[in-house]
Amino acid sequence: MTITIALSKGRIFEETLPLLAAAGITPLEDPETSRKLILPTNRADVRLIIVRASDVPTYVQYGAADLGVAGKDVLNEHGGTGLYQPLDLNIARCRMMVAVRDDFDYDSAVRQGARLRVATKYVQTAREHFAAKGVHVDLIKLYGSMELAPLVGLSDAIVDLVSSGNTLKANHLKAVEEVSAISSRLIVNQASLKLKRAAIQPMLDAFAGAVGK
Ligand code: ATP
Ligand code: MG
Repeated sequence: MTITIALSKGRIFEETLPLLAAAGITPLEDPETSRKLILPTNRADVRLIIVRASDVPTYVQYGAADLGVAGKDVLNEHGGTGLYQPLDLNIARCRMMVAVRDDFDYDSAVRQGARLRVATKYVQTAREHFAAKGVHVDLIKLYGSMELAPLVGLSDAIVDLVSSGNTLKANHLKAVEEVSAISSRLIVNQASLKLKRAAIQPMLDAFAGAVGK
């Protein structure tokens, strides 16, 4: 019985390595240098697949991967259907924020009940955030470089991930509101957990131990 784990390249892969090690799993190739999308590990019964961060929940939902690691930002947009989310791994931590041009008076725009134009990759998250505040928004879907949108008049605000704030500062933007704290979670296909429990449960226990839970 093979266990397939879906990861994205970059920070999630790097920060998941110590957790895999705690479960006795070592990748035999580095996704940054290998062109392979299926990576073998030291364990014959465990393989890794390398997919886009936003595709990880989809692979796990349909059982093409048994386990995966995905940010809360990605999980909120996906909706979580068919996924068991047993563990916050506390990795890839950052914050989902509302940001505007540093000369834009966000508080009075909101107070006056103005209709706000919001550009974001995280349409679902933004919709929920502003609906809860009772702020009317027109949402504009983007796929990257959100910081540009307020600078060229595409939107009044953006909803985006912020860690240091340096990108905002470099583009004369300011964060005005936190939407939520973000970290990555372990996700498990619900059918896999039942059918492959003997192989999966020890991994979950090892990850939990390594995370300190
Ligand atoms: P893609 O590159 O495929 O468009 P992405 O930009 O979402 O996807 P990454 O940059 O690897 O891919 O981000 C993966 C996850 O890491 C995100 O979903 C988020 O949870 C988290 N993350 C994103 N940016 C940061 C950051 N600056 N600091 C910490 N964690 C972050
Ligand atoms: Mg990125």
